[in-house]
Amino acid sequence: MEEIEGLGAATIAKSREFLATGNVRLLAYLRSQHPPGLLDVLRVPGLGPKKVALLYKERGIDSIEKFAENLENGGLEGVAGFGPKTIENLKTGLKRMAQVSARLPLTSAVGVANRLKNALRGKRPDIEIHDAGSLRRGCDTLGNLNFVVPGDDPAILDDFLGLPIVLETLEKGENSAIAKVHPGLAVELVLATPHNFGSTLWFHTGSRAHLEAVSQNLGDFATEAEIYASLGATLIPPELREGRGEWEAARARKLPQLLEERDIKGDLHTHSTWSDGAATIRQMAETATARGYAYFAVTDHSKALAMANGLNAARLREQAKEIAEVQADFPDLKIFRGIECDILRDGTLDLDDEILSELDVVIGSVHSAFNLPETLQTERMVKAISHPLVHFIAHPTGRVLGVRPPYDVDVAALIDAAKHFGKALEINASERLDLKDEHAFAARQAGVLIPIDTDAHSPKMFSNLHFGVQTARRAWCEAKDVLNAKPLDELTQWLARK
Ligand SMILES: [Zn+2]
Ligand SMILES: [Zn+2]
Repeated sequence: MEEIEGLGAATIAKSREFLATGNVRLLAYLRSQHPPGLLDVLRVPGLGPKKVALLYKERGIDSIEKFAENLENGGLEGVAGFGPKTIENLKTGLKRMAQVSARLPLTSAVGVANRLKNALRGKRPDIEIHDAGSLRRGCDTLGNLNFVVPGDDPAILDDFLGLPIVLETLEKGENSAIAKVHPGLAVELVLATPHNFGSTLWFHTGSRAHLEAVSQNLGDFATEAEIYASLGATLIPPELREGRGEWEAARARKLPQLLEERDIKGDLHTHSTWSDGAATIRQMAETATARGYAYFAVTDHSKALAMANGLNAARLREQAKEIAEVQADFPDLKIFRGIECDILRDGTLDLDDEILSELDVVIGSVHSAFNLPETLQTERMVKAISHPLVHFIAHPTGRVLGVRPPYDVDVAALIDAAKHFGKALEINASERLDLKDEHAFAARQAGVLIPIDTDAHSPKMFSNLHFGVQTARRAWCEAKDVLNAKPLDELTQWLARK
């Protein structure tokens, strides 16, 4: 550990302690001094550590419940810095936070689904488990998990309900069982026979809007393809089954030729150890090559993001030397020099035009002042979109699934601006999935190009691409709608036309 740059003696000592004992005494001490609920309060948009500490000290607020109660009953009046306007904003923030945490992000839900499937396979090595429900449709957040298993042995249900991951049986029927699974997700497992496997999978995949559009009463079908064929339509991919016109399109044989993961030729938003990434540019290049990419962009943070060790012009020029060295060893991989440049509060960029014009890829991002009113936030971002050196905006609404709601911004206005100035809007394929499907749908319809990036802070994160592609498919995206589905020469032209 001592050889790792940036790890100080204190961090190393604590890591050693943790490895040896499974605990860190300082952490235990801090936990004993601060009620755990304070961390929840800290997640309310508009509250920082200082304000949370003040509320704890002056009003004894140590949980999100107490905070909500005080907010409603006027209990915050008289606390310095909590005027009527702040209180109004906090009420909005709290409401959106409740919406955020009620559902599990897709990325986490897939983890739960995999653990569950592996556990069940441990008991029954030959079992076939098919994803259904919102998991199969690739929804960004999930309220529950659904699986369909071919077979008629009711003991399968007992095996499922007996898994250690199951907290509680909620319902058990002849062909199906519902259980509450760690960390609090309802999981339904349904058995299907060879005769009704298609209709069972179809029904449990949904969505309700799609089922209603297609047919209320359906007989037994062995495959989903047979269902659609029997109704004079082509098979509708699960991601499209949302009642957004897919049924009419399928009957008219006008479904889009949906984007596939293999259409993606590279990643235009990644980080390295130059800012807050965990891997060197060379390690990231190795992974990009292993994934068969034609290109990727190194887009570390800019200096305003000091906690992420953001780069100024001088360090960007230093970095260029390293990129050139690595590039020389990877003749089949184009490494773009880029930046994820902070959009400052007033809509100007964190770095000046001189350095930005040296770069191949300039991303504009909001990482601060999340609480601006919608008009100001929108103006700020439109100003950045209009900057001639900006290529696209990353994670345009700032949301982090299960953690942070989006800030107030008029996405339709961002799409208009992007269209007007010929800029792109990202689908961030990490735990953000931002643009979300409906926004990406509108952007695509407006003819705005969409890069799908993983925002990888480590080589392993490149594989999150899958979630971004699924979101794009839910937005009816074809390869032509996606910036990084372009071959290198076309992309280079697009990047250069400024
Ligand atoms: Zn970012
Ligand atoms: Zn980033």
